[in-house]
Amino acid sequence: MKKSIIDITENRLAKTYAKFPIEVADGYGSTVLSADGKEYIDLGGGCGVNILGMKNKMWLDAVEAQLRRTAFCSNLFYNAPAALLAEQLCVRTKMQRVFFSNSGAEANETAIKAVRKYASEKKGAEFTDIITLKMGFHGRTVTALSATGQPAMQCGFAPLTAGFYYIDDDEEQLRQALSDRKVAAIMIELIRGEGGVLPASRGFIRAAAQAAKKDDILLIVDEVQTGVGRCGALFGYEKYDIIPDIITTAKGLGGGLPIGATIFGEKTCDILQKGQHGSTFGSNPLSCAAALAVLKQIDDELLNEVNKKSEYIFSRLQGQNGIKSISGMGLMIGVETEKNADEVLDCCIKNGVVAIKAKHKIRLLPALNIPWEQLKQAIDILIYACK
Ligand SMILES: *Cc1c(COP(=O)(O)O)cnc(C)c1O
Repeated sequence: MKKSIIDITENRLAKTYAKFPIEVADGYGSTVLSADGKEYIDLGGGCGVNILGMKNKMWLDAVEAQLRRTAFCSNLFYNAPAALLAEQLCVRTKMQRVFFSNSGAEANETAIKAVRKYASEKKGAEFTDIITLKMGFHGRTVTALSATGQPAMQCGFAPLTAGFYYIDDDEEQLRQALSDRKVAAIMIELIRGEGGVLPASRGFIRAAAQAAKKDDILLIVDEVQTGVGRCGALFGYEKYDIIPDIITTAKGLGGGLPIGATIFGEKTCDILQKGQHGSTFGSNPLSCAAALAVLKQIDDELLNEVNKKSEYIFSRLQGQNGIKSISGMGLMIGVETEKNADEVLDCCIKNGVVAIKAKHKIRLLPALNIPWEQLKQAIDILIYACK
């Protein structure tokens, strides 16, 4: 008998992921098609990667055209998509330079190398500490995991990279940490996605930005999940009136192709010099062309739409039976349910909707351009599943 894809996967891929019982075969927009011919409305957005849905027209045209020119050329050469993408990112963030890599973890590793180098040169070799948030998430490589203030994820992987210090989003803990330690940088997510869609308080974020400025400590904002329009602005920090020294992003940036970006401001743009960092696949023209097609579509009209859809979801879910709390911003929303989240997601799947989890919550990361009709239908089903 022919083995099913699900069986082969369970036997032959590393066991790192708990999976839904769906084999994805195809999709368009916010519709996912399974190999057994079922259709689902996607509220998980491929964990935020399919930021404009699947087979977005402009994205597909750009990727196909680039694929027929050069899918890859090394960093020993210049290529137009990388240059134009870096230019776009800088113009739209008022930052100075970009380093491209392939993932969120790699974008964060780049930021961490840069701030360590800056602090050792400017302030002294002992200024190595990086303050991050408890329940944060910065990736799975050893150093990104070390930055991740979640002991359960770090368990078994010691020794981790030294020099990370975790605090709550509490101004007093921040003050204490800054006075007790030799700090190179503060690295935060504005909304901790994997941690449970936990927004940091505005007061804390302002305090972190002010303290960083005052003491020449660098502020890294990890926008791997919150970026690329997800929060209703191109990057989430715009909604907090702060200016990061480094922004990291990935997930939605390539609209489905792998790319990470570390975006440097005035203070940080010249830290990494020739030979001090690299990434073979980073800056590849295919991913960069894909990201250019994504960015072009993240305009005021779409962002406006994101904010409207966000208000719609919040207002529909608020006060519904079985829903305990709602958190998040834009189209990054956590829903705490009375029922177990797995049970709710199972019921959603049975009724043709997929979403994901963040700790014990349901997490919604739909495509920013999800059609209203599908959004309304999917939220109806989610509300039904929570009851
Ligand atoms: C997903 C995520 C990462 C890790 O990204 P990868 O591409 O999986 O390496 C880092 N930071 C945040 C905030 C994320 O949500």
